[in-house]
Amino acid sequence: MAEVRGKVRDHFYGTTAWRKFRAWYIKQHPLCEVCKRNGKLVSAYLVDHIVEIKDGGDKLSADNAQSLCCRCHAQKTAIARKKRLSGVVQPAPDAPPSSPWV
Ligand SMILES: [Zn+2]
Repeated sequence: MAEVRGKVRDHFYGTTAWRKFRAWYIKQHPLCEVCKRNGKLVSAYLVDHIVEIKDGGDKLSADNAQSLCCRCHAQKTAIARKKRLSGVVQPAPDAPPSSPWV
């Protein structure tokens, strides 16, 4: 299957499969999982891929999903970006700056 990097990622977040998975997952995990580990109960805002799709993570696996609040997701994104910039993770050359979950 031919995949164009970046494009596919954006398209994926608009698919019925993802929407269904996301709705199911957030129902099972209605609280931010990172905050919960820190003893805080915060409503989850989105379902995040633990290993990002562009890094080879499973798209529709509960093992690769976690509920996050806005704050934790922003933190994770910032850390991932730093890692990319420092060359730990190779970025997709044409990854769009948009927010696919909005
Ligand atoms: Zn959180």
